[in-house]
Amino acid sequence: MDFWQARRPLFHAGRSERISMFKLSKKVEALPPYLFLEIDKAKRKARAEGRDIIDLGIGDPDQPTPKFIIDALNQAALDPANHRYALDQGMPLLRSAIADWYKHRFDVNLNPETEVLPLIGSKEGIAHFPLAFLNPGDFTLVPDPCYPPYKGGTILAGAKPYLMPLLEENSFLPDLKKIPFFVRRKARIIFVNYPNNPTGACAGRDFYSELIKFAARNKIIIISDLAYSEMAYDGYQPPSILELPGAREVAIEFHSLSKTYNMTGWRAGWACGNPQLVAALAKVKSNIDSGIFSAVQLAAVAALRGNQDYIKDMCQLYQRRRNTLVDGLTALGWAATKPKATFYVWIKTPPKADALSFAAHLLKEADIVATPGIGFGKYGQGYIRMALTVSEERIKEALARIEKIS
Ligand SMILES: *Cc1c(COP(=O)(O)O)cnc(C)c1O
Repeated sequence: MDFWQARRPLFHAGRSERISMFKLSKKVEALPPYLFLEIDKAKRKARAEGRDIIDLGIGDPDQPTPKFIIDALNQAALDPANHRYALDQGMPLLRSAIADWYKHRFDVNLNPETEVLPLIGSKEGIAHFPLAFLNPGDFTLVPDPCYPPYKGGTILAGAKPYLMPLLEENSFLPDLKKIPFFVRRKARIIFVNYPNNPTGACAGRDFYSELIKFAARNKIIIISDLAYSEMAYDGYQPPSILELPGAREVAIEFHSLSKTYNMTGWRAGWACGNPQLVAALAKVKSNIDSGIFSAVQLAAVAALRGNQDYIKDMCQLYQRRRNTLVDGLTALGWAATKPKATFYVWIKTPPKADALSFAAHLLKEADIVATPGIGFGKYGQGYIRMALTVSEERIKEALARIEKIS
């Protein structure tokens, strides 16, 4: 069975639902299919067959969490005071560490009492935020391709994502002028994510200032997902939207410790910005979770207040990998460019090959896993994403294998 056929049953999940006693909610039925399931399955199968897989599919740092952060967790875990329910709104110590980090990094002043909210990873907050502001019939403006929770969070809140294509000719920025007026009237939230997953694109202050005007004029909330703010190359420093005038009236920004400190499994992030938006998210969350494990919060304080030099080393490591991969692919005639930030390389598939079959081809013929762009939305068709989360040696090995099948 080839990759395409293997994928099919996913789209017909409804069949087993019909013979079941329990009917899924309309919201859950409306969620987009999880297209990575099939590549995950194919990958596991290849591994089970003993093949030497080079996995460029995972957006998860391969390096360990720095030791000083683990030490802080260990120490905090020994204190019984940290074993009880945490405060919903996060420890004051963590909120002020976040505000200080923001001041230092972006020169933005945040009130730690009202403008900062720790999260159980930023995905959690991004997916829950729409519950605070959406009603049936509302739209959100969602970039396509995108990080899946923007669509998922919208649909679970009973609203509809309106897709804004991210096209190469617009440097993978949404074209706000193309959003029809009837959509603007019904749109409550716009999602933006720069540095961007999956395209690696970056946004400048000009884009943000146009976006703020658009949002204010149309009374739309801006969600800025800044998960990759610290993963940037060649001296580039991605801005925060909150640096711009007017942003605090309309924007909430989401951050994560996951990529910055190699802490994906720990589940720690935060939202910050407009106090009304922050309070609304806190209210939703107080009905869903009971805060982050206090020992993890204290480890997050250690991360944010600790020596940040390690981030420079991390960026140098990814930068070397990026150069090796993109220079190598370019030499083989592939259409790949060096991203200024993120650990993703967004690569055009050969003409006529679609993303899924090209990814399947790479896995079958070269034992290389890449993520088909279509998994991030229909405008990801024609692209695959490679993540810089393996060593340079493995990247070179991948290039050698690609050369062999070219
Ligand atoms: C990895 C990532 C996050 C971080 O998610 P956490 O839940 O904080 O681990 C957020 N947004 C994007 C676009 C990401 O790729």
